[in-house]
Amino acid sequence: MDHSPPVILAVDDKVENLDILTSLLQDYDVRDVTDAASAWRILDHSLVDLILLDIMMPDIDGFELCRQLQDDERTRAIPVIFISAMSDEATISRAFEVGGKDYVTKPFRPRELLARVKTQLELKFLMQRLHDLAYLDALTGIANRRRFFDLAAVLFDGPGDLQAVMLDIDHFKRVNDRHGHAVGDQVLRLVADTIGVRLPPEAVLGRLGGEEFAILFPSADPDAVLGAVDTIRQAVADLAIPLEEGTLTCTISCGLASRTPDTRNIDALLHDADQALYQAKGSGRNRVIFRHIPP
Ligand SMILES: [Mg+2]
Repeated sequence: MDHSPPVILAVDDKVENLDILTSLLQDYDVRDVTDAASAWRILDHSLVDLILLDIMMPDIDGFELCRQLQDDERTRAIPVIFISAMSDEATISRAFEVGGKDYVTKPFRPRELLARVKTQLELKFLMQRLHDLAYLDALTGIANRRRFFDLAAVLFDGPGDLQAVMLDIDHFKRVNDRHGHAVGDQVLRLVADTIGVRLPPEAVLGRLGGEEFAILFPSADPDAVLGAVDTIRQAVADLAIPLEEGTLTCTISCGLASRTPDTRNIDALLHDADQALYQAKGSGRNRVIFRHIPP
């Protein structure tokens, strides 16, 4: 559990306004900047939980910056509270139209602003929690089936090459039968971790159900992916899971397939990988099979 204070980005062209905010928000990790370009430099490099945004600024004003934040998938979920001297209805309603979550007029009442900041942060963390519950596999923390297929659809529609891997844990039912589900769960978590730490950042890993996982590699080089998957296979085979009655080992079988111009959709690509997985199972398990499509 992370107990570091929430990060608040304050954007205002007047330094004296930023000084007031910084001293008021002492319980938070406040980053203050005087223009949109500097705000983006912070957003590009750190996770921000809430943005306090002035409207009247030279170059890019608060409305335009808020619109940019909404257009960017990385920043869309960060709540924005506008803080402005303008109090006319048209300005306030525009602030909400461009994506603002709240509006506070300057000069503001300090305790009111603190309460509004707290409310927006609570909502943000609740939304994050709901998102995690909906999209992450509760046992392993990796993408669940729904999230995997959402990401897979985006990758499949993209222009680059794509390699798919289907893999599962060999004889997993035996693990549950012999050692119980708590040990089975431990094996699933360990295998997911072992795969996850060895993947390049652009790869997508998901647990499709039970002991079945899938990986998508946006890569043009099937041989490199084959090598990477075999490294993962070996790392899993090297795991020694301590039990009261000794150590437990496990292995995985993996099937790999490349997208070709004839691959109709993501389901077809995963089906090809699944065929290769079937071959890997049939030829002795603990191996990686690459399904070569005849040219
Ligand atoms: Mg201003």
